[in-house]
Amino acid sequence: MNVPITPTEDCALALDRADSLAEFRDRFYLLADTIYMDGNSLGLLSKDAEVSLIQTLEAWKTQGVAGWFKGDSPWLNSAEQIGDLSSEIMGAKADQVIHSATVTVNIHALVASLYEPAGSRVKIMADELNFPTDIYALKGQMDIRGRDWQEDLVIIPSADGRTLDEDTIVEMFDETVALVWLPSVLYRSGQLLDMEYLTQKAHAKGIIVGFDCCHSAGVVPHELDRWGVDFAVWCGYKYLNSGPGGSAFLYVNRRHFDKRPILTGWFGNRRETMFDMSQDFDPGQDAGKWQISSPGILGSSTLRGSLEMINEAGIQAIRAKSLLMTEYLIALVDDLLTDPPFSFRIGTPRESDRRGGHVALERQTGTEQICEALVKRGVVPDFRPPNVIRICPSPLYGTFQEIWQTVGHLREIVEVFSK
Ligand SMILES: *Cc1c(COP(=O)(O)O)cnc(C)c1O
Repeated sequence: MNVPITPTEDCALALDRADSLAEFRDRFYLLADTIYMDGNSLGLLSKDAEVSLIQTLEAWKTQGVAGWFKGDSPWLNSAEQIGDLSSEIMGAKADQVIHSATVTVNIHALVASLYEPAGSRVKIMADELNFPTDIYALKGQMDIRGRDWQEDLVIIPSADGRTLDEDTIVEMFDETVALVWLPSVLYRSGQLLDMEYLTQKAHAKGIIVGFDCCHSAGVVPHELDRWGVDFAVWCGYKYLNSGPGGSAFLYVNRRHFDKRPILTGWFGNRRETMFDMSQDFDPGQDAGKWQISSPGILGSSTLRGSLEMINEAGIQAIRAKSLLMTEYLIALVDDLLTDPPFSFRIGTPRESDRRGGHVALERQTGTEQICEALVKRGVVPDFRPPNVIRICPSPLYGTFQEIWQTVGHLREIVEVFSK
């Protein structure tokens, strides 16, 4: 797309005309009279995902229990197959990815195995802007190990309350740290961290690195293998459009395949011996051994259609459009929403290699009321207290014109409020 970005509606129209992903919009159930800017919280339903869900219902209807073993996609291998479908977007060899459980459960499962405090190397590092559930899981794991997290959980500070500085993080790495847990993209500001650099620096200090990729999976290309990341998790319901509460994924680098699952369950057993029903756990050979329970087949089946569509669109093309969308949005905010009385500021880094798929708009006062007024006008963003409106234009089903319209609504709302 060679359309110069200008803060005009004509620019939006030209970008929409040149959009090579435009055809994907018709494959989604768009909400009536709504501009949906919240795909980073819950992605919309696609027809592709609906079809794969119906196929699963059909298999259940016509085959009953045989569905576990029969048909094109026997449920017994569903977690591996769906894991394979996400290996390209995550840059991971298939045996290192498995579809399993939920994000928080996967953090517990992996940290239980990979956090091995020994000698003076006992600490876990995480950042003060991390998603709360991640921190709860880390503290719980430290409790189980009898570690005092007041002392051994090192919290990386943010200088501006929005972003993290990679070099500050790296300076904190030392021989007392066993494991560092970071987000790929910060859920509030939308900052994208340099995962390759952080991994390399952590390894140089003998630290194991894990990433929560919930806010980047499906919108930012990953190269987990090449970067050498030790472990990662991500959810299905944000940019992967799997549906509310859909199940999640985990990645474990091969170098840790010798580790023992601790939150052990029968789905982590080797498939060949699983139905021997021995009481001795016989773990699988790859990332699959960190599965715990039977996969929720109905909930996961949407991912089949959804991930095939994402692979068809291509993660590079998705990222390219997403970056153009956020760049256009930032240009509009600079030109139309910055001066008083609008008085918004961008809380997201401006460099394209430092932002994920959404933009954080901040305002000193009235942000929550402005967000409510947007929703009344049929624009769906989301609000993160105390003063952030997150706007996420979806590269698969959103348009540039919708971004133009969203900014127009914001101007009108503030104009009305300040009369
Ligand atoms: C969405 C999200 C979660 C969600 O966790 P669940 O256990 O699936 O509810 C966790 N962490 C981050 C960073 C998220 O963005």
